[in-house]
Amino acid sequence: MSLVSIDDFKKLIEQNAKNNGWILNEDDAWLTELIGYLWENKQRYGYPSCPCRLAKGEFEKDKDIICPCEYAAPDIEEFGHCYCALFFKKDFFKEGKSFRKIPERRPESKI
Ligand code: SF4
Repeated sequence: MSLVSIDDFKKLIEQNAKNNGWILNEDDAWLTELIGYLWENKQRYGYPSCPCRLAKGEFEKDKDIICPCEYAAPDIEEFGHCYCALFFKKDFFKEGKSFRKIPERRPESKI
């Protein structure tokens, strides 16, 4: 898929969620803001690095935090959502839960 617009990019994120059996944040304002930051990072670095973490701007150093990052699946499994609260476990909102700050799983050596 050639990403010519932020709308295409949003579709890719929706597809990523679907492929992984996740859902997106139901808070539209939060979601729009996060997708905007991811899109900005994609324009800036050439890849959508995590908006909640500081990127180095070098693919090799940032590849673990390219969305969906390496830490998303274990965070979603353990806490119900990823570090930025973009992706969620399917039943998270149905169960009446609220998202919250979760611990950083990325090793300190990479930060
Ligand atoms: S924490 Fe969430 S938004 Fe950030 S890179 Fe990982 S999956 Fe994407």
